[in-house]
Amino acid sequence: MVKTASAQTPYKRFAQNLKHALDHLRCTPAERALFREPKHIWKNTITIVRDNRTSANFPAFRVQYNDARGPYKGGIRFHPAADEDEVKALAALMAIKTAVVDIPFGGAKGGVQCDPKNLSKREVQLLSRAYVRAFATHIGPDIDVPAPDVNTNPDIMGWMRDEYEVLTKSFAPAVITGKPLSYGGSLGRDTATARGAFFILEELIERKALNPKDLRVVIQGFGNAGAAMAQFLHNAGCTIVAVSDSHGGIYYKEGLDPVRIQKYKSSTGSVTGEYCQGSVCDIKKMKMDNVQAVTNEELLELPCDILIPAALDNVITAKNAGKIQAHFILELANGPTTPEADSILTKRNIQVIPDVLSNAGGVTVSYFEWVQGRSGEQWTAERVDADLKRIMLAAFRAVRREAGREKLSYRGAAFVLGVKRMLETMRVRGWVK
Ligand code: NAD
Repeated sequence: MVKTASAQTPYKRFAQNLKHALDHLRCTPAERALFREPKHIWKNTITIVRDNRTSANFPAFRVQYNDARGPYKGGIRFHPAADEDEVKALAALMAIKTAVVDIPFGGAKGGVQCDPKNLSKREVQLLSRAYVRAFATHIGPDIDVPAPDVNTNPDIMGWMRDEYEVLTKSFAPAVITGKPLSYGGSLGRDTATARGAFFILEELIERKALNPKDLRVVIQGFGNAGAAMAQFLHNAGCTIVAVSDSHGGIYYKEGLDPVRIQKYKSSTGSVTGEYCQGSVCDIKKMKMDNVQAVTNEELLELPCDILIPAALDNVITAKNAGKIQAHFILELANGPTTPEADSILTKRNIQVIPDVLSNAGGVTVSYFEWVQGRSGEQWTAERVDADLKRIMLAAFRAVRREAGREKLSYRGAAFVLGVKRMLETMRVRGWVK
């Protein structure tokens, strides 16, 4: 989203990682052609009548990258920086991700270029319903199954399901995932992305014989993914030394309490809310509590053991990769690290657990929700948790095996594994020899 940090666009950055995998697998020109561009790029301008009775237009996208392994799958984000290139990159990452965790979906993504912070709840509902009307012929339980992403939530998924069912005169709970529990949602979906990443981190901690109590964690982004991750790690005994959101962050060496942060975020709209109103901070209180205000750039370079980008793409770049002090980077955000930064981090022996593996818990529980929507079952929280753990650990082990065997980074190995699985299905389907 912060597109100035790297000269490359998000899709070019994706293509660079993809190229390494295609080269590594010695893919033929015909095989490479299947990955070059998304199968479909749908664009529309959606219009709503605002509360003040003026009309407003918003560019909207649904990009369907590949459906070799099953229906297209991917979230919809509402954000000012959501454009065709960004949505393309996110759709392509989804296809690799669903293959890495080996669930029967392809990859897609949607976006509306808007700032939902400037819209009322009624306007957001109109926008959500208009999005479905614009793309209804391209989505469906067996075709393309959207989900939440940045700035979209269960309410929005509920409105979208309702709009789709009214339009198609059908009962279609499996058309979308991330819905409210009372309207076809799955237990565990709200925390699934963080939970999946937590399972991976737990195994990593065990394998490296680390003690969670010795681990200092920095988290950028305190939304759906970041806030839940902070809570899981805090409960496990790790010390959350810094968190941030779009307003900035706070750093406290002794360890922050995620419940308290959430309380202030809910009441003031910002994780710094206990100390700052906008850019004006109560320095005296901060000094007394030994808390420091940090910018999002400073936050990434703080001393810590685990750095978790959980907000935006393109934040770890060639500019700051040399200054990162973490030993591990766990990518909850999609595309936070540029390929140039990746090379620097590898040279510095900083282990990156890539987005296509570490944040795949969200789409995995979305898959469970889709299965429940099709079968009419309601799974227990225990079943969701156990199946999520099984799938995440199987994927982590497969990536580790590939990395060890082929002398690749975890990102390199995850891309190779994803591409290999996609190609296997494409061969069976006769798309390529
Ligand atoms: P969200 O909208 O719930 O939260 C985003 C957070 O990032 C908010 O705290 C926001 O204030 C913060 N933020 C926005 N701009 C920022 C900036 N410039 N600097 C620092 N923080 C900023 O979104 P989410 O669902 O938690 O998604 C976060 C990331 O995780 C995205 O990259 C998304 O694609 C990825 N992801 C989410 C899921 C999921 O299930 N929610 C699944 C896979 C990947």
